[in-house]
Amino acid sequence: MGCSQVQLLLSAYRDKMTSREETQVVESHLESCVDCQDMLSQLNQICLVLRTLDNLKAPRCLWQDIKRRLD
Ligand SMILES: [Zn+2]
Repeated sequence: MGCSQVQLLLSAYRDKMTSREETQVVESHLESCVDCQDMLSQLNQICLVLRTLDNLKAPRCLWQDIKRRLD
């Protein structure tokens, strides 16, 4: 699986919404990919900010939502 596919799964992975297979794929990719580790930590920071801004209105931090806000 390539970085772009892993990165699409990262927000679901953060929220523990990925299947066991997806989780394994993401974790094994993260072990060897600094770019995606970076992406995950950025995602954590962004989600923290978004949740604060939304005052917990958004139960989950979805990647599509983040991308829309970043564009
Ligand atoms: Zn990667």
